[in-house]
Amino acid sequence: MSTVLDSRKKKSGSRSRTATRTKTRAARTRTEQKPRARTAAGVVAARTERETGEPKLINRSKEWKLLYVPYPFDDSMKMTSGHAVESMAGVEVETYKDLCLNCQKEDVCTLPRPEGGVWRCEQFEQRTATIEVRPRRTSVHENVLAQFNRAADTMGLDSNLRKILAKTTNETVVNFPVKMDDNRVEMFTGYRVQHCNLLGPFKGGLRYHPAVDVDEVRALATWMTWKSAIVDIPFGGAKGGIQMDPSKYSSSELERITRRFTYALGNNIGPEYDIPAPDVNTNAQIMAWILDTYLSTVPPQERQRSTHVVTGKPLEAGGSAGREKATGQGIVYLIQEWARERRFDLSEATYMVQGFGNVGSWAARLMKRLGAKLLAVEDVSGAICDPKGIDPDELAKYVSGNKGLIGGYPGARPVDRETFFRTKADIFIPAALENQINGQTARWLKVKLVAEGANGPTDLNGDAILQEMDIEVLPDILCNSGGVVVSYFEWLQNKRSESWELEEVDAKLHKRLVNAFAKVMNAARTYNVDTRTAAYIVALTRLETAYKKRGIFP
Ligand code: NAD
Repeated sequence: MSTVLDSRKKKSGSRSRTATRTKTRAARTRTEQKPRARTAAGVVAARTERETGEPKLINRSKEWKLLYVPYPFDDSMKMTSGHAVESMAGVEVETYKDLCLNCQKEDVCTLPRPEGGVWRCEQFEQRTATIEVRPRRTSVHENVLAQFNRAADTMGLDSNLRKILAKTTNETVVNFPVKMDDNRVEMFTGYRVQHCNLLGPFKGGLRYHPAVDVDEVRALATWMTWKSAIVDIPFGGAKGGIQMDPSKYSSSELERITRRFTYALGNNIGPEYDIPAPDVNTNAQIMAWILDTYLSTVPPQERQRSTHVVTGKPLEAGGSAGREKATGQGIVYLIQEWARERRFDLSEATYMVQGFGNVGSWAARLMKRLGAKLLAVEDVSGAICDPKGIDPDELAKYVSGNKGLIGGYPGARPVDRETFFRTKADIFIPAALENQINGQTARWLKVKLVAEGANGPTDLNGDAILQEMDIEVLPDILCNSGGVVVSYFEWLQNKRSESWELEEVDAKLHKRLVNAFAKVMNAARTYNVDTRTAAYIVALTRLETAYKKRGIFP
């Protein structure tokens, strides 16, 4: 153990300081907030790990995770606990604090601790420690660029275009005040990033979530460019959002936040310039508020020809039939294409879904119509499973009366995250957030196909593991493109003052996605690459053709 302490002093001075500082703050926080919950998790973890000898992460809060590490090193190994976490659990650590396994029943560690903070528990026969870590957030934009570079190398993308597409065009950050119901004023930070408008106006959703930041929005905007190019619609890529937890605000507060954000964005959006749509925690109602606010800022003579400033609007306010279910519908059309190519019978298939919001719940319900059986669902409130099958229509009804959450659903058994990921099913539809399938969770999967409903649900490590495990992937930029396709239909209907029947919308969507699927599979065969790289190649080829024809100003 002394080697460990020496190495910490020599190699990680700054880390030690961070750890010590964090410890003091953490001790304070623990005294104030629910210490028992953490204690229970720690003890369970310790027992499990003593049996398996594997390091394990246990979710404790959104930010901090509790890790039990049976220290395997002998005196010749030089590792600090932070390094141990990184190398043993594959977690990139931002900061960490050591906890004493013995005194977790106490709020603050009272046992003597060795200098440097690494705890060696005397009660266990092996060297042990529990560590709380704050994992470093993987940059989603770095993931996009890595995917982009891989495809650009494979196809030999024009070097000038490569430089252009690696950057975003415009990045707008707005800080704006909003009066709350109790007359307090709160400040909010909103973003709109426009990646590329080579093929048409910027287009992409708005997200309300605490994790929204410029890195995430950049990535999401970039994915939108590829997506529109794959399905051959005349849009570029953009994305935006507000960094906040919408569940903390009343409906009237959300309306004021949305209207003020729209006002702050000003001319950065517009029906022929940049067209927002719903994304995580935003919906048709929010689009209607954006529409109304935007129209109030243009001269009355221009209002009627500006209704296509947002898509995903309610039907009564210029929305399109089929837009609400479009992303889920698109996922299912593509799964059907995949199954048709492989002669796989979907009426006998089993599937699992992560995220039961707009995308996940529609995909789940439409899969049921094909006869497939839903075995497990996870959302932000937890996970449930039932080997006999979960009825997605019943679950959707429950969720709509339960603040949008699956937690407490009586028709299935609650399970932990690992059990959810280890469910044996044919198809997994991740439809929540980014980086959910990573170096750890990918190894748990026992599925044949991952149909990516979410944007960026698989990080680079996860992707490599899926390939190694021969799990097929319908990549996000193809798989969830149904939403932007029907947004395009809505935009067209508004411009032409038309209103299409649902059957017409669905038929047109189906045609576009079948074509896109064929192009991606063709590129995968031609270049002998995975489907994600193939999807990028299809998108980049279209952008390259347009770029070469148009050239660059001046
Ligand atoms: P939503 O807000 O309607 O639903 C999000 C779901 O994810 C909720 O069920 C929520 O509980 C769950 N969730 C959030 N954090 C989670 C976590 N840590 N673990 C498990 N579940 C979690 O959002 P949505 O519109 O359905 O979007 C879902 C994904 O699909 C996002 O990645 C979004 O960018 C992408 N997408 C959406 C559309 C669209 O038309 N809405 C189009 C294309 C792609």
